[in-house]
Amino acid sequence: MRVTVLGSGTSFGVPMIGCRCAVCTSSDPRDRRTRSSIHVQVREDFAFLVDTSIDLRQQALANDLRRVDAVFYTHTHSDHVNGLDDLRSFNWLQRGPVHLHSRSDILDDIAMRFAHCFHPPQEGAGVPLITLNPVTGPLTVGGVEVTPVPVKHGILDILGWRFDGFAYVTDASVIPEESMRLLEGVEVLIVNALRHEPHPTHMSVGEALEVARRLRPRQTWFTHICHDLGHAATNAALPPEAQLAHDGLVFDV
Ligand SMILES: [Zn+2]
Ligand SMILES: [Zn+2]
Ligand SMILES: [Zn+2]
Repeated sequence: MRVTVLGSGTSFGVPMIGCRCAVCTSSDPRDRRTRSSIHVQVREDFAFLVDTSIDLRQQALANDLRRVDAVFYTHTHSDHVNGLDDLRSFNWLQRGPVHLHSRSDILDDIAMRFAHCFHPPQEGAGVPLITLNPVTGPLTVGGVEVTPVPVKHGILDILGWRFDGFAYVTDASVIPEESMRLLEGVEVLIVNALRHEPHPTHMSVGEALEVARRLRPRQTWFTHICHDLGHAATNAALPPEAQLAHDGLVFDV
């Protein structure tokens, strides 16, 4: 699997509109963070996203995405779903629907918020062609063993996702013990780390490091990062096996 980090920023993105802090005004391109999402190319003819970031169009152009067959959703906060309409481009490229997978209540929320997708448009107008596929447990999609991983996002129950030996856990404040067991043996982990200071709905860098120490993946990448953390300085202080990701980061698992 070839994983591309499309976006590594928190919901505001970095730079934040109007902010003049050192990170928001940095000239290091790795300090420019669009809203969090990944693309995973499994084969020439099968690729998927986790979430449709509000920045999906720019991310697809920046990373030359050609294919999206499926999307696995973590939750329905706007930064994670609001790019859904741009799936239309992949309908057009692939001449077929994009299959959305998540827990049924998450899909219900998407169906409500994107109701226009389920009403035939006026001729000449376009809506994404999508299918809704409720997930209740592990499944195989495109030859990949996929496991939903329940996590807490403040008071919300949302999902991380494991794909064979790789896992993506964003917007988690706590990973329950049963879910830590679902993550055992991952080779590469992406997990959210908002900032150093504790936050009620997101892990801090210290909390995310503790997850990495327990699971011991070969490599851990932190995502959903706010403007408190400058890329170069933060990574210099972190161990090489647990580092901040950046937009456009590509790795193979
Ligand atoms: Zn988020
Ligand atoms: Zn700032
Ligand atoms: Zn969220």
